Amino acid sequence: MAEVIVIGGGLAGLASAAALAGSGHSVRVLESRRFLGGRATSYEIGTGENAETIDNCQHVLLRCCVNLLDFYRRLGVEDQIHFYRDFIFIEPGGRRSVLRSGVLPAPAHFLESFLTLKFLSLSEKLAVMRGIRAIKAQYKTRPDLDRITMLHWLKEERQPPRAIERFWRQILVSAISEELDATAASHGFQVFRLGLLARRDSYQMGVPSVPLGELYAEEKWKKVGPVEFLLRSPVERIVIENGAVQFVIARGQELRADHYICALPFERVPEVAPGLELDVGDFEYSPITGIHLWFDRPVIDLPHATLLDRTIQWIFNKHEGRAVQLVVSASRSLLEMPRADVIALAIRELEEFLPAAHGAKLEKAHVVKEVRAVLSAKPGLESRRPLSRTKVRNLFLAGDWTRSGWPAIMEGAVRSGYLAAEAVAEAAGQPGQFLLPDIA
Ligand SMILES: Cc1cc2nc3c(=O)[nH]c(=O)nc-3n(C[C@H](O)[C@H](O)[C@H](O)COP(=O)(O)OP(=O)(O)OC[C@H]3O[C@@H](n4cnc5c(N)ncnc54)[C@H](O)[C@@H]3O)c2cc1C
Repeated sequence: MAEVIVIGGGLAGLASAAALAGSGHSVRVLESRRFLGGRATSYEIGTGENAETIDNCQHVLLRCCVNLLDFYRRLGVEDQIHFYRDFIFIEPGGRRSVLRSGVLPAPAHFLESFLTLKFLSLSEKLAVMRGIRAIKAQYKTRPDLDRITMLHWLKEERQPPRAIERFWRQILVSAISEELDATAASHGFQVFRLGLLARRDSYQMGVPSVPLGELYAEEKWKKVGPVEFLLRSPVERIVIENGAVQFVIARGQELRADHYICALPFERVPEVAPGLELDVGDFEYSPITGIHLWFDRPVIDLPHATLLDRTIQWIFNKHEGRAVQLVVSASRSLLEMPRADVIALAIRELEEFLPAAHGAKLEKAHVVKEVRAVLSAKPGLESRRPLSRTKVRNLFLAGDWTRSGWPAIMEGAVRSGYLAAEAVAEAAGQPGQFLLPDIA
């Protein structure tokens, strides 16, 4: 069995560690922070009686994220993900609509509830149905989907502006965290094909019922296999000589293994592994802002909902409606805004959607602006995302930004980790298959 060093304890690094340790390889994970999980994590804010563990931002998944669910299964935490059947849309003023699977088989399972949506007119619904049919016909057959934007494609398909804004944008900006005019159509297609059309239940949204960090807490790894975590251990350099990694330097020490997986965010790689000569010049981030609000009384009676026509895109109920987590994906408009103004805007908008928010007293607020949230899924980038194998024979790449076949979200990160683990297993002379195929 091989000795493997994984650099970076985010989902990509952790997934590769779980797959390799599960096959008996001996794995050490070097993580710069004092906790695991990278961009999908939780931490404590406040002190003493006011201390509270929050996620850096609410993370959700769909049932079609089969590799992420497999990773949770390996850690024995899959039952900590609560799946919901209802997608609730709320318009300013409070009118609600529900999208849910009905009695018809896929891909017609949404038809009944889709026709009842109040926020689209009949002609807008017919246009959306035409668009969905076009996705089914063109998925994996139309060759230029990676070169055009989703907005370009929607306009080509004559989608009305309100349908674009209230249906397509509402779903896709949250799923991919990028605006429609900056997202490759191929990613938009994948979300609809796998998430909404493939199976009657593939759209169901999973929300962790515990803070994210608990999902991969160190004690969860005992039954996985031989994995050791070295926290607060930033890797300063991956030293490459004669076409192979010789060692890595962390905390002033030289650490050696047979194989190395570099699972760092893309902007860190050129500095930590200059010998790799990786060009990430075109890679950019799209930001996400999470707004945590605590009130003196319940303000929401739903587990979660998506909010139309305003800045806030999603609201999640925390602590029986007295605390909420709001999410704004592709949140460039909020980056320069002072935190007090972000909070004031959030409260103003909540009052438009939720009658119970009127008069509720804000007790506490916390804003997390993740400027480096996810790789912007812009057209033309897919072929530039690197594969796991590198020109260095014992060094492999993982990370949501590498070419995993998915956008840079949690499923993409886990897929990249499994792909890197497969490459290591093969190089170690014990090939194994860890990646699960997509559901369609
Ligand atoms: C605010 C926000 C909301 C999101 N919402 C969702 C969502 O709802 N659904 C979804 O699917 N995805 C979501 N994502 C995306 C998801 O979090 C990421 O795709 C995923 O976590 C990336 O994992 P990763 O392992 O590729 O990278 P990272 O999580 O960035 O992991 C890299 C790790 O490397 C460590 N590191 C850095 N430098 C060093 C060094 N020198 N030495 C050692 N370690 C180092 C970092 O500390 C980190 O732990 C969201 C992201 C953000 C930021």
